[in-house]
Amino acid sequence: ASASIGVTGLGVMGRNLARNFARHGYTVAVHNRSAGRTRALVQEFGHEGEFVAAETAAEFVAALERPRRLMLMVQAGEATDAVIEEFAPLLEPGDMIIDGGNAHFADTRRREAALREQGIHFVGVGVSGGEEGALHGPSVMPGGSVESYAVLGPMFEAISAKVDGEPCATHIGADGAGHFVKMVHNGIEYADMQLIAEAYDLLRQVGGYGPAEIADIFREWNQGRLGSYLIEITAEVLGHTDAVTGGPFVDVVVDRAGQKGTGRWTVQTALDLAAPVTAISQATFARAASGQTALRAAYRGLPGGTTPVLSRTEAARFASQVENALYASKVIAYDQGWSMIQDAAKEYGWDIDLAAVARIWRGGCIIRASFLDRIRAAYAQDPALVSLLTEKDFAQEITDAQVPWREIVAMAARRGIPVPAFSAALSYYDTLRAERLPAALLQGQRDFFGAHTYGRVDKPGMFHTHWADADRPETDA
Ligand code: NDP
Repeated sequence: ASASIGVTGLGVMGRNLARNFARHGYTVAVHNRSAGRTRALVQEFGHEGEFVAAETAAEFVAALERPRRLMLMVQAGEATDAVIEEFAPLLEPGDMIIDGGNAHFADTRRREAALREQGIHFVGVGVSGGEEGALHGPSVMPGGSVESYAVLGPMFEAISAKVDGEPCATHIGADGAGHFVKMVHNGIEYADMQLIAEAYDLLRQVGGYGPAEIADIFREWNQGRLGSYLIEITAEVLGHTDAVTGGPFVDVVVDRAGQKGTGRWTVQTALDLAAPVTAISQATFARAASGQTALRAAYRGLPGGTTPVLSRTEAARFASQVENALYASKVIAYDQGWSMIQDAAKEYGWDIDLAAVARIWRGGCIIRASFLDRIRAAYAQDPALVSLLTEKDFAQEITDAQVPWREIVAMAARRGIPVPAFSAALSYYDTLRAERLPAALLQGQRDFFGAHTYGRVDKPGMFHTHWADADRPETDA
């Protein structure tokens, strides 16, 4: 036994992670259901480090130093359960099974509990950054036991992306916490992408800018507070010319957005937690709506607003308003993500360092952005911060963005341009800052039809009004 870690499932992600470990000096046992991939990996990349190729499960397990560290990089769901069932009987107490796939955190909690009975550490790890990240440095979000992180932490930190010399890996919390946080990362990613797409749509339809000009606007924004990987690649995509038509690439792409499901998981989970991640959910529904071909055909042609294009001078001012709206909405979307993590931490008993989450998302992952440094600083200063908007600099920025943010959403409504994420972010802001909400009326309605009772502002307790019987007073519920 000579390998510090074993990777089974040598697809796109597994093989790059195995190479990343080997490049950092770890001896890596490699295994795949079909042995061809194992041989190909060693043949092509064997010179990058120390690999031990294993053809059978027994050979693979025998190649691992104790406690054994066995990383699965297979499809989430049934494949993961099948591979766990295959390997768990070959392991001993103290050994570790690491699941680096995109598992649902509830599955990770279930698997962790089951394997804990056998004394095996099951470590669900969120890995972000795709194929390139896996090879050159992903953002790594491990859950599982503290004991497992003591062993695995240094290895994850070694292979992770680094920002200012700090690794983009940290122990997130027990059992499914790592996969949960990875899921929220993807939810925030959906919101960020949708907000950027709405900004583009406004700049094009109202501002009258062409895709190449908008690419330049995004390049400029990328130098400022919006600086991020997503803004950077948006400029690349918008600046790209289609080889066939010679026109803008974005104009030849079918306008139906796909999704692999992690955004949907975020929304489904948010409903269970009663976490109002409205910008994230609107972004997810925007993708769903784009794919509703029959509905779109049914609605197409119905009246909307008018969209006269602005003059060039007006457009420049407009672009700066859009930047404000985008930034303010982005702060809200991220705030929603962090709040959802806080809600889950309460629900599942996780002790999550919210500053560390921001730190490890500064590099390696899709939402990497300079602005995460400030989120980190905010939570470092006050680990129990309820919202980013209670931090004075964020509060000031939102205050400064007020007027343009509202103007953009109002203008979009008048002109019939869909801005589901912008408007959800603004409504969220207005909902939470409101002195009083019409939820009071909802409680009245609920008490009327279902005797659901209500609280009063002037005394403690719960009450019910006898709606059908004017002579009977309100009673304590
Ligand atoms: P690939 O399709 O490239 O590879 C899948 C691997 O899983 C193959 O090695 C395959 O083996 C193996 N496998 C599938 N089913 C079984 C099974 N029943 N028993 C044993 N082995 C099985 O997938 P990826 O590398 O893209 O993804 C792997 C995991 O990483 C997934 O959970 C994915 O969601 C996650 N992930 C992917 C990211 C990405 O950007 N692609 C980013 C972050 C996470 P065989 O060669 O024999 O078919």
